[in-house]
Amino acid sequence: MEQEKFEERYSRQILFRGIGAEGQRRLAAGRVAIVGCGATGSALASLLARAGVGTLRIIDRDYVEASNLQRQSLFDEKDAAESLPKAIAAARKIATFNSEITVEARAEDVVPEDIHALLEGMDVILDGSDNFETRYLLNDYAVANSLPWIYVAAVGSYGVTLNVLPGETACLACIFPDTPRGMVETCETSGILNTAVNLVASIAATETMKLLIGGAAKERLRKTLWSFDVWMNEQAEIAAARPRPGCRTCGDRDFVHLAGEGRPHITLCGRNSVQIHERARPIDFGEMQQRLESHGVVRHNEFVLKFWREPYEMTLFPDGRAIIKGTTDTGVARSLYARFVGS
Ligand SMILES: [Zn+2]
Repeated sequence: MEQEKFEERYSRQILFRGIGAEGQRRLAAGRVAIVGCGATGSALASLLARAGVGTLRIIDRDYVEASNLQRQSLFDEKDAAESLPKAIAAARKIATFNSEITVEARAEDVVPEDIHALLEGMDVILDGSDNFETRYLLNDYAVANSLPWIYVAAVGSYGVTLNVLPGETACLACIFPDTPRGMVETCETSGILNTAVNLVASIAATETMKLLIGGAAKERLRKTLWSFDVWMNEQAEIAAARPRPGCRTCGDRDFVHLAGEGRPHITLCGRNSVQIHERARPIDFGEMQQRLESHGVVRHNEFVLKFWREPYEMTLFPDGRAIIKGTTDTGVARSLYARFVGS
């Protein structure tokens, strides 16, 4: 973008003393991965895109549904009607308000086998996921590669976030050696307020800007696990400035999650559904549509194929991955997949 246009677009941010013209240029050179583009991921992507972060890589395995619209601010009713993958819908929406930045959409699941390819070349990794399995995997990857990442979570009326600067601050496993009790409640069980999402995303997006700008801005990074409950007006902070001696991840550098231990190819993914991570099974949607038509209702677009066979709903992605709704029984999901897609 030409200089004048650039300075005009970001003039209110350049005027802010903590950023200035040089800070804005560093944001434009910044490369940020957002892993998961649900509620927090949407808010993070939206704020950072408007702030002028030059490259956003948005990675999400899911597709847009009507129940997402209450809090997932990058999506609209048309996206839900088309079952668009969230990464694609997010990139399209961002292009309508900032076409000057690069958005790389990846409709994929972050698993140990693919994490390097998905996160390579990024300056900062942001957690837009909704589960600790992914978060521990990100923590392993970030510590192993000395890359900063920010843990971000919101559930109920509560938001929590932590900056992890490997080699400097505590990592996620320093604070939670195991999945924390009391925090395994999910949006399906406890609901979620969109205001809690936006609050915690605002804080994490600001910390991302400080990281990208560096220098004096980096000195302002928060070094605590911070949480706030917007309903109860309760705030808490836990010190996280130093690693915990004996931490398995950043102390012993034992990256069990990165090694993929116990990572099944079939996983429950909340809200009464099962994901099947098939690899290297490219699907021809036209051919599949013909094959499935006599077995139920089927339709597809460029990005997903949906197949309804009561009481199940299968969403198939071009790489062979599937999300099967209507069951939490992995055996049922596997047999449906084997029967209609292939074993
Ligand atoms: Zn640690």
